[in-house]
Amino acid sequence: MNKTILLVEDELGLVVSLKKELQFENYEVLVANDGLAALSVFERHMQNIDLIILDWMLPKLDGLGVLRRIRRRNNVPIIMLTARDYTGDKVAGLTGGADDYVTKPFDVEELLARMKAVLRRPNRIATEHPMYQLADLTVDTEKRRITRKNHNIQLTQREYKLLTVMFENIGKAFTRNELLDLVWGSDFEGDPNIVDVYIRYLRNKIDKFPNSKKLIHTVRGIGYSLSID
Ligand code: CA
Repeated sequence: MNKTILLVEDELGLVVSLKKELQFENYEVLVANDGLAALSVFERHMQNIDLIILDWMLPKLDGLGVLRRIRRRNNVPIIMLTARDYTGDKVAGLTGGADDYVTKPFDVEELLARMKAVLRRPNRIATEHPMYQLADLTVDTEKRRITRKNHNIQLTQREYKLLTVMFENIGKAFTRNELLDLVWGSDFEGDPNIVDVYIRYLRNKIDKFPNSKKLIHTVRGIGYSLSID
């Protein structure tokens, strides 16, 4: 299957020419023109994106801000496009978390070669203990610590599993059956309404803070999703 690239760049001329080159090399290309758009495109297509080309100087949220937010919980390869006067060690230090960088103006051949090298790297497995964050809810899976508005939240094993499964695919509308399979296992033979019961438990613990946005949503006719809106 073709690899999908998220191209984050605000210079429209460069977007047009780069997109053409990438498509010519059989990449699927998604485009975002500013930092916030990059985050929302990434949220929606996370499962399909194989590599991000990320410009540093961007409107709304710069490339470094985008890099940090994505790196908190995802290991997708990222190549940064940086201005020419940041060179060597300086860039390496500043782009902590990026897999590589290319300085502007650059040769397309060079970028393509670096992309191939990054995509070839083995062991790109997801972080073993990701940090999840959505609005003011955070889950530190290494310490198994859940907080909302800086309050610690205690979850049972099953509630925790349900929450982290939903965090792995923010915005996805899960059916009850999917959640049953993922959280209780495909050999579960009890009442499928257990999903609704546990969603209620979870809501009581994470979605009942005053002045906080609801994060667990009922998706009519389907099931449930975890998202900001
Ligand atoms: Ca730019």
